[in-house]
Amino acid sequence: EKPVCECNTCYEGPDCSQFLPDCAANADSGDPLFLEPFWMQHAESSAVLVAGWHRMSYVFADHTSISQVLVNHILKVHSIARNAITKGKYIVFGVGSTQLLSAAVFALSLKSSSPARVVAASPYYPVYKTQTDFFETVHFEFQGDALVLKNTSDSGENVIEFVTSPNNPDGHLRKAVLPSANAIYDRAYYWPHFTAIPAPADEDIMIFTISKLTGHAGSRFGWAIVKDKDVYLNMCEYFQLAEMGVSRDTQLRALQLLKVVLEGDGSEIFHFAYEKMRDRWEKISQTVSFSKRFTIQEIPPQYCNFFEKIRGPSPAYVWFKCEREEDTNCNDVLGAANIIGRSGSLFNSEDRYVRLSLLKSDDDFHLLLYRLKELVAREDGTE
Ligand code: PMP
Repeated sequence: EKPVCECNTCYEGPDCSQFLPDCAANADSGDPLFLEPFWMQHAESSAVLVAGWHRMSYVFADHTSISQVLVNHILKVHSIARNAITKGKYIVFGVGSTQLLSAAVFALSLKSSSPARVVAASPYYPVYKTQTDFFETVHFEFQGDALVLKNTSDSGENVIEFVTSPNNPDGHLRKAVLPSANAIYDRAYYWPHFTAIPAPADEDIMIFTISKLTGHAGSRFGWAIVKDKDVYLNMCEYFQLAEMGVSRDTQLRALQLLKVVLEGDGSEIFHFAYEKMRDRWEKISQTVSFSKRFTIQEIPPQYCNFFEKIRGPSPAYVWFKCEREEDTNCNDVLGAANIIGRSGSLFNSEDRYVRLSLLKSDDDFHLLLYRLKELVAREDGTE
């Protein structure tokens, strides 16, 4: 009997080859399936098999600790990407970087007796607000836009600032806007895949994730590189109380993936990811350049420490703008053209902007490009 074929969203038929002409281009989520072909090329060496009797203990009780081996692999990947200074710093694992963001707020908020105010400069990744609101304690609360605080006479005492660099949604390399704040640098996208690396990052708290490095968002593994011992210990306490450590199975998978990343001279994944993201960006840029109605963000070419040359942009997202005065809700305009994006207001910006993800599968990207071309071609004609 033939197996029943599970087709991708936009296809049907016995061999999934029939394209559904009305299918929407979904560019909403940041699911990093653009790396799937890389892992198909390394299917065998990246596979993990664990016998039932293996690694049954709690994380703290496992004396055959793979954690240190995993730390060493993480340090090696950073030294190849030349994107972070790790010497003399502590490493904490987390269930995705999502949990590390929360642990970092918790750890920093214990530094002072008065409640910390948590801020981020707009447009910002929405989870900083939603998560801080959700976990709010007497020690901290979300205050909003860092740029608003910067423009007041407030000295910014006891402030925690999330700094996303490069930024989600617009891909710009950022620095903290409040000089006296305790900054949490979210470095999820600070890989040659998505940005030039002008210099290795050297902030007090830097948070990374395999979600955007290898694409394994479902494994839920991230790490923080922390300078201050007390902050590190507070973050460890958070994980001990919340989770009793990060799953051994997850650590084992992350280790196997990083082993493959480090094969050869360890640069293959960076070349693969950069080429793919740059190609996607160039195709979108070229399409939008024919439009008078829409624009996308500009990212200047910059010197890259990894490629040792000036290189162009390859961001994870398009920060798409509707320029016509009447197009105040750009997501509606895109929706009418069968394109699903994420509205600017979710990033504490205007709905004149929409975030379009470039991280998804090849099929998703091709459909997005096709629908955008249709939309731009119609501009001078029927509309
Ligand atoms: N920070 C930023 C800026 C992100 O865009 C994302 C994922 N979209 C995360 C953190 C969360 O990543 P993780 O899968 O590691 O929890």
